[in-house]
Amino acid sequence: MFVQMRNGATEAELLGVKALILTEGLTPFEHAGPKRTVVAVVGDIGKRRPQLRAMLEGAPGVASVTDITKPYKLVSREFHPEDTVIRVLDASIGDGSLTVMAGPCSIESREQLMETVDHVAKRGATVIRGGAFKPRTSPYSFQGLGVEGLRYLAEARERTGLPVITEVMEPSQVDIVAEYADILQIGTRNMQNFSLLLACGRAGRPVMLKRGFGATIEEWLMAAEYIASAGNPNIVLCERGIRTFETFARNTLDLTAVPVLHHLSHLPVVVDPSHATGKRWLVKPLAIGGVAVGADGIMVEVHPRPDEALSDGEQSLTFELFDQMMDAIVAVHDHVKDLHGDLVLAGQPEDEAQPDPAAATAGG
Ligand code: PEP
Ligand code: MN
Repeated sequence: MFVQMRNGATEAELLGVKALILTEGLTPFEHAGPKRTVVAVVGDIGKRRPQLRAMLEGAPGVASVTDITKPYKLVSREFHPEDTVIRVLDASIGDGSLTVMAGPCSIESREQLMETVDHVAKRGATVIRGGAFKPRTSPYSFQGLGVEGLRYLAEARERTGLPVITEVMEPSQVDIVAEYADILQIGTRNMQNFSLLLACGRAGRPVMLKRGFGATIEEWLMAAEYIASAGNPNIVLCERGIRTFETFARNTLDLTAVPVLHHLSHLPVVVDPSHATGKRWLVKPLAIGGVAVGADGIMVEVHPRPDEALSDGEQSLTFELFDQMMDAIVAVHDHVKDLHGDLVLAGQPEDEAQPDPAAATAGG
């Protein structure tokens, strides 16, 4: 549930509400929106709901108490109607601009990374990607350069001025990865690694959570809720394809997820057509598709010589293909950027069309 404070409620009244929630053994999360301040009550409320509700309704400064109907709370639009905008260095994710995360699948050498980042930065990438700790299906495949790779990534940030993102695979790596990277990436295989989600939630860096290849949208949002519940509201969701009966492409890109997520959640959404397809010639069309359905950004793999790549060469773009994709998605984004509201809200029943906490009804 969440508590909506009255307009003009005092700081003391807000503190009083939070204290009341804490004494019940629950956690208050404040969201100061442009129109109102709301406090989500997070934890196992169980059978105490009616008493808790009455207590909060009677507290000074409270306008109303509303149940959040979804199992995920902090990442839901019900709690937080405005889009989340994540600011990292000079980049903003989720503000209506087009985020382009680009770089090699794996950081293989200093030269390979610098050659790639020089190119993608010049052509409009806004975030640099590169794997240092690699989750590989085979234990005999290249596992990444580890901390040496992180150092090169930090150098790439100095060189380009762009924030850098890299994957963290286990809780014990979070501190070192957070020391070098601006955004932590949680990969598809770890979407439900709950201790990793909580550790990233405490790390003080934005997190990009990739969809588990067998996860439903609700499971994905519940995973994001773990990160938020640990105190980190700066989460990006990345649709990277799911496993279906179709085998032509590496995965099946679920473009439906993009407007669905924008409807259910306030978090920015990025589409990764590289891992979704596994084939470089399919990356541009699906990047276009992602932008056209309202994604806040795209993540792609780029390599100076994809045929020599130590991982995911087949899906890595050459510089030339990256340039062609950029021209296409920038043009598409110019067309659709003003449609964001329509893309998100199109076709919804009237009562759902305004994601307004006051409109939410009873439930979980
Ligand atoms: C990656 O982006 O490097 C990666 C391993 O992606 P995924 O977790 O989506 O497979
Ligand atoms: Mn890869």
